[in-house]
Amino acid sequence: MDDYPRTLMEFERRFASEEACRTYLVQLRWPEGVRCLRCQHATVWPTQRGLYHCARCGFQTSVLAGTIFQDTKRDLRLWFRGMWYVTNQKAGVSALGLQRALGLGCYQTAWTWLQKLRAAMVRPGRDRLAGIVEADEAYLGATKPGKRGRGAAGKALVSVIAQVDGRRIGRVRLRRIPDASARSLERAVQAAVEPGSVVRTDGWVGYNGLGECGYVHDIVREEAAVGQPLLPRVNRVVALFKRWLLGVHQGAVTPAYLDAYLDEFTFRFNRRTSRWRGKLFYPARAAGGPGPFEAARSREPCCRHRVNHKLS
Ligand SMILES: [Zn+2]
Repeated sequence: MDDYPRTLMEFERRFASEEACRTYLVQLRWPEGVRCLRCQHATVWPTQRGLYHCARCGFQTSVLAGTIFQDTKRDLRLWFRGMWYVTNQKAGVSALGLQRALGLGCYQTAWTWLQKLRAAMVRPGRDRLAGIVEADEAYLGATKPGKRGRGAAGKALVSVIAQVDGRRIGRVRLRRIPDASARSLERAVQAAVEPGSVVRTDGWVGYNGLGECGYVHDIVREEAAVGQPLLPRVNRVVALFKRWLLGVHQGAVTPAYLDAYLDEFTFRFNRRTSRWRGKLFYPARAAGGPGPFEAARSREPCCRHRVNHKLS
């Protein structure tokens, strides 16, 4: 199902009522028809309250259960507008921007909504990069690079891996790592890159074990490119991330939110050539990525164990 409005006009027309929003969520969540959240039975009756009554076990399923909309007291229409706004800002959004766009009275609400929307739409795909990649690390916020083996005090170290696509950058993976030890770097590469791929790094000793991890390790040496960055793609990605962080988040990063920002940047970067921005929100199932119902899926086993979830 590739079904998402492409323009604001289409969006307003499509999601003009609560019912339209709900219908959309139902189609997204159960493309083959609604199933009982508790017993998975396929025969359910819609109730007047917008729930689905299971013909077998009597459980009442809500399409909102286990999603970011669960327990919300606000209109789905407002949430949908929030999603539209968040996904259509090319660079990203701030809580203040969201507050203004939706006319929310309280900054704290906008901030909470933004965190929820980020968590729902911005997850790094589980599929790994393949082919030829460049791998390096960067200290964020550091004016000078820290010493590699030890880490710089107060700075976050981030593993940056960029796929080589001819002369261009393919997809990227960024994630925080505790240090630049072989153990940390190998883990980061293994999480992001398919075995058998070519991994280009500089001569840092922490990458020496990549061959044994099943990669073709290509060490780019200093003399190979005098006056050029050894790993031009990762250098570019780091520069873009820093600029993006400065523009969208005023450069202020607390460690607690750095992971979310890395995910968001990765998500946006890897979809930068999407034909329509609206597709940003659309679950990347075709690309192997998760969708907005990731939270819902992970909660469903609880229902099968007959835990009495509060349904909205
Ligand atoms: Zn049931």
